[in-house]
Amino acid sequence: MNIKRVDYFHVQCKRIEPFIIATSSTNIVNNILVKVIADENYGYGNACPNTVTNETPRSILKALKILSHELTGEDAKDLNWINERMDSIIKGNPSAKAGIDMALYDLQGKFKNVPVYKLLGEKKKKMLTDMTIGIMNQDAAVEHAVQYINRGFKALKIKIGLDKEKDIKRIKAVRDAVGEDIKLRVDANQGYDINTAIEVIKKIEALNIEYIEQPVKWDDLEGLSEVRMHSNIPIAADESVKSKDDALKIIEKECSDKINIKLMKCGGLTKAIEINTIAKNNGLKTMIGCFGENRVSITAGLHFALSQENVCYADLDSHFMLINDRTIGGFTFENGYLIPLKKIGFGVDVNIEEWGSMNF
Ligand SMILES: [Mg+2]
Repeated sequence: MNIKRVDYFHVQCKRIEPFIIATSSTNIVNNILVKVIADENYGYGNACPNTVTNETPRSILKALKILSHELTGEDAKDLNWINERMDSIIKGNPSAKAGIDMALYDLQGKFKNVPVYKLLGEKKKKMLTDMTIGIMNQDAAVEHAVQYINRGFKALKIKIGLDKEKDIKRIKAVRDAVGEDIKLRVDANQGYDINTAIEVIKKIEALNIEYIEQPVKWDDLEGLSEVRMHSNIPIAADESVKSKDDALKIIEKECSDKINIKLMKCGGLTKAIEINTIAKNNGLKTMIGCFGENRVSITAGLHFALSQENVCYADLDSHFMLINDRTIGGFTFENGYLIPLKKIGFGVDVNIEEWGSMNF
């Protein structure tokens, strides 16, 4: 099964409402859909530009142009080899590489007539996902929380990191509104300094918070470690971990209790599995997260999580917030859980007739 062609297509779509976190505010989302064709079959992948890996639509299109040219004729079944090849062709560009890696898993599933999560070794049937509440005023946050609970969500992630007093009040108000049975996670997206992080954590520790993500800057590992020493809430590293080397550093410096793995940060499923294995061997649970992604890469994240015992948390919610992203299928959402479709590959489909028109 040799790669015949790689097509890609830039899709820009709107969010239902602006999404504000400590580092950015967006109402438009970009994704580059990838289609790898081999032996009269094809697989879908997706690359999402983001500020964590510093990839833009332009950089991803440029990387895909090079990779598609160089990978033509290669054996599509040998994922380790393809990943090694991609790293030898261009440095960095993990989201672009994730798009191809993902499409090859979809292809392999189709080739072997099984869903990807079975190909990787099914460990779970479904995955609980949280729904994220961006930074907004307290009343709006409570209103969003109640709305999400009514839609079936059993876990919420509250974005914080711009204003400590407002953050503390907002988290308390949401906890009061949703009750004790709902799982609450918070994410500061690097917004605090060490002292502020410790102060906020002290004031919310009675609110049964599952974990706090990335309280301080991604490269301040000493700071992260210090916050952890003073925290009764588990710490999750997100922006600090983009690769297995980052994961090893985090473990060595005892910076966090959990790691947030994102396919776009690390370069796809092959590398996500490597990071998860390292985390597992060192006693750290992991979560699967996302950027402003469509159903293709959300499904890939879901299949990764279903195949790995150690992936205990999911924040796979971006597709809920997009308008007309042109991707369909993959999974259903029931009572807070994402449940994969019992189809071969990822079971996703894409509404694009103009495939290849973005190729140069
Ligand atoms: Mg995060």
